[in-house]
Order: sequence, then C-alpha cells, then structure tokens
Amino acid sequence: MTETISLNNPLLQTSGLPRFDQIRPQHVVPGVRQALAQATEKLEALEADLAPSWEGLLQPLEAIDLLFEYAWHPVQHLLSVKNSEALRQAHDAVLGEVVAFGLRLRQSKPIYDALKTLKHSESWQTLSNAQQRLIDQMLQEAKHAGVALAGAAKARFIEIEKALSQLSTDFSNAVLDARKTFELVIQNPNDTQGWRNTLKQISAQSYNQANEQASATPETGPWRITLDYPSAGPFLDHSRNRRQREHVFKAMASLASLPPHDNTPRIDRILGLRREKAKLLGFDTYAQLSLSTKMAGTVEAVERMFAELQNASKAAAEQDHNTLQQLAKTPLAHWDVRFWVERLRERRFDYTDEQLRPYFPLPRVLEGLFGLCKKLFGIDIKEANDPAPAWHPDVRFYHVFDEDGAHRASFYLDPYSRPQEKRGGAWMNNCLKRRRVNGQLQVPVIFLICNGTPPVGEKPSLMSFGEVLTLFHEFGHGLQGMLTTVDVPGVSGVNGVEWDAVEIASQFMENWCYHKPTLIGMTAHVKTGQSLPDDLFDKLSASRTFRSGSGMLRQLKLGMTDMALHHQFDPGGPQSVLEVQQQIAQIEAMPPYEGDRLLCHFSHIFGGGYAAGYYSYKWAEVLSADAFAAFEEVGLDDEAAIARMGHAFRNTLLAQGGSRHPMEVFVEFRGREPSTEALLRHSGL
Ligand code: ZN
Repeated sequence: MTETISLNNPLLQTSGLPRFDQIRPQHVVPGVRQALAQATEKLEALEADLAPSWEGLLQPLEAIDLLFEYAWHPVQHLLSVKNSEALRQAHDAVLGEVVAFGLRLRQSKPIYDALKTLKHSESWQTLSNAQQRLIDQMLQEAKHAGVALAGAAKARFIEIEKALSQLSTDFSNAVLDARKTFELVIQNPNDTQGWRNTLKQISAQSYNQANEQASATPETGPWRITLDYPSAGPFLDHSRNRRQREHVFKAMASLASLPPHDNTPRIDRILGLRREKAKLLGFDTYAQLSLSTKMAGTVEAVERMFAELQNASKAAAEQDHNTLQQLAKTPLAHWDVRFWVERLRERRFDYTDEQLRPYFPLPRVLEGLFGLCKKLFGIDIKEANDPAPAWHPDVRFYHVFDEDGAHRASFYLDPYSRPQEKRGGAWMNNCLKRRRVNGQLQVPVIFLICNGTPPVGEKPSLMSFGEVLTLFHEFGHGLQGMLTTVDVPGVSGVNGVEWDAVEIASQFMENWCYHKPTLIGMTAHVKTGQSLPDDLFDKLSASRTFRSGSGMLRQLKLGMTDMALHHQFDPGGPQSVLEVQQQIAQIEAMPPYEGDRLLCHFSHIFGGGYAAGYYSYKWAEVLSADAFAAFEEVGLDDEAAIARMGHAFRNTLLAQGGSRHPMEVFVEFRGREPSTEALLRHSGL
C-alpha cells in the first residue's frame, strides 16, 4: 500500500467527524487493513513492554480503540444505513480480520496478567471509580473468555465454546428452514373477509414470489400465508376461518420440533454444555454465570421480581380470559385467542394509526421532545449551522448545549425509512465516544436512527404513535450517551452498563408520551393545527393497560422458563425440557396448549444472547417505571419540582452511565432499591 492511498483514505483520519460523505466501498479494505496493521503494531509493542499502570496499559489500549472508532465503526454504520452490494463485499472481506484482532486483544494473557498486577498494586487506589470499574470489567470479561484457565480445562473450554457457537447457529438455521417448509395458499376470497389490506398485499406478493409467472393480486388472490411474523400474526388476528387459523396456529406452535428440522436434541446439548462451561469458570449454574455480569446479580433477585409481578397479575389475567370467553361465546381454543383479542380491542378503542398520524408531524414532535429535555435536564438542542458530513440528504445534525452555553454533545438524526439501503428498526449508537485525546476533550457524538414514515410532497413526515414512542425511546438511550460526564470511553454513556440496566433511560422517556400535557403539547394537526382531541388521548392512554395481566404473565412465562432451564434444571437428569416448559406455562390463565414446542424456536435464548437474561425485559421495565414514579411523586405538573428531579436524574443515571454499578447509581437517584410497585400501577395491576 502506498502513502498516497492512505492519505486520501477518509477511514484513516483520527480526529473530527468521520467523513461519511467521502467514504466509499473501495476505501474499506485498504483503510481497515492499514488500521489493523497499526493496531497490531501497537498491541505487539504493548505486550512486549507492559507497565501495569493506567498510562502504561490502559492509555495505549484506548489509542487502539480510537483507530477502530474511525476506521471500522463508520463501515459498520454505513452497512446499516447505506447498504450496497459493493459495501457488503468490502465489509465481508475484512470482517474476519477485525474479529480475529478483537479476539486476540481480549484473550491476551500478558494484558490480563498486567491488569491483575495493576489491580493488586498500590497505584490501584489512585485510580478513579470509572477507571477501576473499567479494569474490573475487563478482568471479568477475560476470565469469562477462559483466559485464566490452563491445560486440559482450557482445551475443554475452547471445545465447548466452539460447539456452542456451532449449535447456536444450527439452532437459528433450523428455525429459518422449518419456517420455509410451511405455506397455506388461500384461493377463496371469502376466506379473506376481515383481513387488513397489508395482509392481502403481503400474501399476494408472497404467492408470486413462490410461484414463477404467477400473477396474484391483493384483490383477487391467491394469497399465500407463511409463518413469517408479518404474515402469520395478522392472519391469526383477523382470519374468520377458524379451521385455517387452527392450521396456522399449530404449525407455529410446533415450529422446528419435527424432523428434519428438529431442535429438541440441540436444546439438551446446549444446556449441558452451558452448565459445563459455567462449572469450568467456577459457577454452579449457567444462570449464576450470566447474572454475575448483570445488575440483578443473583437468581434470587430475579425470582423475587417474577413472584411479585406474577402475584399481582394473576387476577387481572383471569379477568382478561373471562372477558374474552364471554365475547367469543363458544369455548375458546388457543387459535381463537388472538382473533378475539383484536375484536375486543376494536370494541374498546375504535381508533387507528391513520387517524392519529395527522396530529404528529415530525417537526412538531421534535419540538416537543427538545422542549421536554430542556424542562427536565436544562439542555438546549439546536440544529447545527454548518451541516456535518452525512450519508444521506435527509440526515440532520444537532448540537446539545448546557444552560451556560457549553457544548456537551452532538447527534445525527436519520429519521425516515429507506428500505433499499437501510435496515429496519430503530437504534442509537456511538459515533464518537466521550474521551480525552491529547488532553483535549472530545464530546460524544451519537447516531439516532429511526425508520419513520417519510414526508410525501410538501407534507412533513406524519408519525404513528408507535413511531413517536420509538423516537422517545432511542432519544433516551441518546441522552445517556450524550450527557455522560465520564471521560473513560469504555464506561462512559451506555458503554459498560450492565445490559439488564441499559433500558432505564430509554423506557423512562417513553413514559412521557402518556403524560397528557406533554403529549398534547407536541401535537398539531397537519391541516388544521389543532391539538390531539381529549377522547383520542383517553383511548391511547387506556389502550396502554389493555390485557396487561395476560401480557405480563406471557412475558413472565418466557423469563421463568429461561431461568429454570439455566438454573434448577439438570441437563441429562430425569425431567425433560418440555416438562419444565409445560409446568411453568400453568401460570397463564388459559391451560397450556399441549402441542406447544415453544423452546424449539426460542431463538432469544438458544440462538441469541439472552440465555438466563430474558428476564431483563421486565427488569428494565421495573427500573424505568420506578424512575418515572420519582417524577410522579413530586407532581408531574409542578415545573420547578420536575426540573429538580430531572437534574437529579441527569446527574446520576444519565451522567454516570457505566462508571459505577447500576444498583449504586439507581439508589443514589431514588434513595432506595427499585420496587415493582410503579410498573404494576402503570400497567393497571
Ligand atoms: Zn432500547
């Protein structure tokens, strides 16, 4: 590689904003390789001459991190917002090398030993809390990656890791493959009565994709129902043909439980190997290993939460079930539930997304959101005068200022969906982490990516209520990323936060969308300028607690099954995983469906990263509801009190991020440990 290429390669700069406007697929391979070469050189120099001190060890590691922040993270970012075949190929060409480098770094024995020396040296006491916590987390991560093991134990550990990674890939693939084997083709238009238009479109399109030269139309069919969620979900919600619902329901419930795509044996192997891995690392069960890096800390703490939420939801879930049964008149089968839930929803809350959208133009919603942030946290958010280098003309760039005018952070907002090049969903990510570079403070810069409805012609983007909630959610993550006061990038903002605590700020912000003055204040009908009428707000607000008892028990069932399998369950023992599943399913109001093979497609815990962690969804809801309750307690409409509480929230949960244990930070904010009371109250339970 010649110097000229590298000088012109935007991936190789190490200051200022990344040049998203200049980065092209052809920069990726040479740029990333050169950064890797520099990083490898730095790592080798470090390993050869280790000083167990912050300056001698952690600062050089931070310099390596900085290389990736500029050379690799922008590539990953562009892959998700400006995808193209060329970029994908370039990314894939170097991905293996980047992953290998990351592994080498995390598994470095010399670095691990030096970190340990530092931890037990006299200079440990001179380090800040944030510095100590980063080192503790690094030591723990290395330990859990098997760095401290030796000999036969180490060899076995590596074997287990390999097998687990293969099994988890195979598990996910089996779910995908099994899903593909199913189709229900509907020819008779009578069977589409009650369907939503989107379902007709999706299923006609699906028919055409599956049959060459077919010309199905949404109006005349044929319609092909698959087990993909956007197909099967609305079908079960709206199909009036009970026999067809039964057929689809049973296929979904038994997904990936039958040869040749049967995941049952994989589940047993995965659970067995996870237990063995946990034992090698000094834990009794895999759940203990998982919880050792989480806020909840112990299985007992999680089970206490399960029990409290379950007890409070039982009666409401019974009531939900009875109401549904009365509405359906004939005895409810499992394949009737979703259908009647939708009929009940229509009766109680006769509004649609389309009715709400005109009240939520994006500019108005942003004004409302920024106004709320000013009120709560005393920050001013202003669109930047000089546009930042961006990857698309719709992207906007904002600065965040303190009341005294100090620049605290900046963020990109990429609001609209672009299906051809941008992946679905919404997320917040770091662009530049807060850190000191050569003594200078780099303020955090983050990405806020949504997939909202784009503007049409002169009309601004009109948001559904769901899109508004999503924006608030991601902005909450963003606030934690931007208002951090921690200069150690590994534990600043959302970095280093235990993952069962990472949703506090995001879900906290969502709560404000149900606060009447806040919500009404950010509505203005696109034509009339009118704010959202009271009756629509009331319906929105009431729909929040619709069937919350049943919903709660369903989530608890999943969390409890996950925890039982990774803790009490004895892999290879007399009880089968199916028995555990069926036993726990008794907590729901309706007796469990005996053909339910939920575990065979529970990809969160067998194909993804949620093993002994599924409870986190509820845990995070408890925390965020309880944090919001602190504001309710002082009076949501008392501006001065809200500002005081907002200040406290900012100084604890937002500012300190991963630099302290989340329980300590929460207790500092709330004055006590979290309670389930607020979540239950908000859920109407
Ligand atoms: Zn989130």
